[in-house]
Order: sequence, then structure tokens, then C-alpha cells
Amino acid sequence: MSIEFRPELKDLTPYSPGKPIEDVKRELGLTQVYKMASNENPLGCSPKVNAAILKVFDHLNLYPDGNATDLKVALAKKLGVKPSQVQPSSGSDEMVDQISKTFINPGDEVILADVTFPRYLTTTKMMGGNPVIVPLKNFAYDLEGMKNSITEKTKLIWLCNPNNPTGTMFSEKVLLDFLASVPKHIVVVYDEAYNEYVTNEEYPHDSISLLDKYPNILILRTFSKIYGLAALRVGYTIASEEILNNIDKIRPPFNVNAVAQAAAIAALEDDDFVKKSYEVNKEGKEYLYNCFDQMGIWYAPSEANHIFLDSGKECKEVFTELQKKGIIIRPMFKTYIRVSIGTMEENELFISSLKEIL
Ligand SMILES: *Cc1c(COP(=O)(O)O)cnc(C)c1O
Repeated sequence: MSIEFRPELKDLTPYSPGKPIEDVKRELGLTQVYKMASNENPLGCSPKVNAAILKVFDHLNLYPDGNATDLKVALAKKLGVKPSQVQPSSGSDEMVDQISKTFINPGDEVILADVTFPRYLTTTKMMGGNPVIVPLKNFAYDLEGMKNSITEKTKLIWLCNPNNPTGTMFSEKVLLDFLASVPKHIVVVYDEAYNEYVTNEEYPHDSISLLDKYPNILILRTFSKIYGLAALRVGYTIASEEILNNIDKIRPPFNVNAVAQAAAIAALEDDDFVKKSYEVNKEGKEYLYNCFDQMGIWYAPSEANHIFLDSGKECKEVFTELQKKGIIIRPMFKTYIRVSIGTMEENELFISSLKEIL
């Protein structure tokens, strides 16, 4: 007899992250490497974070606040909700996992897009859910198609706005029409990891106000992107007390560490840093659009901090060639790549290297 693994694991593969800078330096003997692969903030994080986390170093022997009370209160104040409607997690990645564990039974139908954030599919399958995959339309979410995929067996729907990896968004009107047509017993997960970068006015800028009318929604946000705290793993979810109380039953104790909690609170207080990050991203996006236009390169219109483009060449080859020049991007499929918008210096280096390769 041999040990048996759960059958749900059979066609799962481990998550494949963006390549770390140190790996590339070591493998290729490079001294300067730029990572434009994982949608991290090229400006770092708020300088206020440093002082805040130094204080935590004085009591590393103590467990963190398991309820992250101060962070919840700070978030609630900022967002205009009750602390009981906010739940921090170890990255919003962890919340994706916890949502699947809370809601998905074997055989439940779960609607999601392709191409989108890969953890929706993995955690759905992990729980034995039946993924119902709705392809993107013109590289953007097809909410009409998702609505038409609802059946009696539908349990949950994953939405990402703006979408990763394409950067495309859907408008407030499209979202409202969609929500009005989804039966209220179906859970709608609305992942807004990049909402702070959106420049388009038609975006649902006030998603939190939807919670009153639609208690079946969970809104996911993160400190990993515009706040620049990806290393610390902290995100948060806004939802009804009933939903969060149930998620709390399966939440690992002390899931958000003390350094992450202190850093997130400090980061929330620095609006100037967020504003600067938004401006640098907007400027970088316009620069890259211009260059792509001149080079005759197609790209999806992005409302995030990354651009999905057609390099015209096999994506793995473009990835390898750029890496030799000290730039890490994300190969997607066919000739498509995703590049994170960097500082102007990084953007310029990316463009000059891309020109040499193509
Ligand atoms: C980056 C990202 C996240 C998760 O980030 P965490 O680092 O786990 O907070 C979640 N959703 C999308 C769409 C992302 O791109």
C-alpha cells in the first residue's frame, strides 16, 4: 500500500512566480538586474514604514495581534466601514485560498475568466469545484458571457478589475448590470488589487458602497502593489460581517505577522507616497504606450501597473533575451508578454533592449 494524495491535487501545478533578481544575477553573471515581472512598486514603499517596523523588532518574541485590531480600525476609518467589515490576510492570495475553503463544495460550479489571476482556478480545483471558464473578449472580462454561464449549480464567481495580466477594466455600469442579474445566493469575489492605479473615470471607483445593496460581494485589496509591501504579505477584504465571521473560522491563527501589521498601518497614513506612485505609473504608462505605438506593437489598454503586449516573437525567447540584458519580464503565451511599469530609467532600458531584440 502506498500513501494516497487527494484526487483534487492530480492536475494542479505549483504556482510559478516571477523570477527573482538574485537568480538572474547568479545564472548570468550580471551585476545590475531590473525586475519588471511581478507588478511590484518600483519606488519601494513609504519611508514611514521603516520607523514603524523598527519598533516591532523590540518584541519579536511575542505573537502578533491575532485579530490585527489596530490595522482593522485604521482600514475601517480610511474606508468608511465598520472594523467588523474588514479582514486583513497574509496577502490577498491567502484570502483567495480562504474564500475557496469557506464556500466551495465538491461539484459546485465556479465561474472564472481565462486569462486572469491563476489562484482563482487553483484554489477552486483544490476544493473539488467545477471551474466554468469564460474566455476574455478583446482581452477584457466578458461579464455578459459570465452571466450567461450561471446555472443552478453556480456557487461563486471570481472577478478581477482591473484584470491581471491584461490590465483591462470593466466599467461601473457593466458591473452594476452584472450584479443586478446575479442571484443573491451566489458569492461574487471582486479583486481590486490594482484599483489605486486606475485612471479611467468609468471605473467603479466606489465599490465599497455596493456592499449595502449586494451583501454577497467580497472586495479584495492588497498592500503588495501601490503600497509597495509585497515582501511582507498583507492584504485585506471588505465584506459583510456574516461572511467574515465564517471565514474567520478557517483562518490560520496569527496569519498576518506583526511586522506586516505595523507596516500596513504606517503605509495607510502616507497618501503622498500613493499619489506619487500613481503619477509615476501614469507617466510611465504614457511613455511606454508612445514607444509601442512608434514600434507598431499592439498592447491592451491598461488601468493597472503593467501592460500586456504582443511582442510579435515567441514570448519565452523574448523573456530569455531580455534577461540577458538584465531585465526580467513575464512571458505569457504565444507572442504575448506582460511588463510591469517601472521607473523612467527602467522603462527606457526596457524599450531600448526590446528594440534590439525585435
Ligand atoms: C498581485 C495580486 C494579488 C495578490 O497579491 P498579494 O501579494 O497576495 O496581496 C491578488 N490579486 C491579483 C489580481 C493580483 O495581481
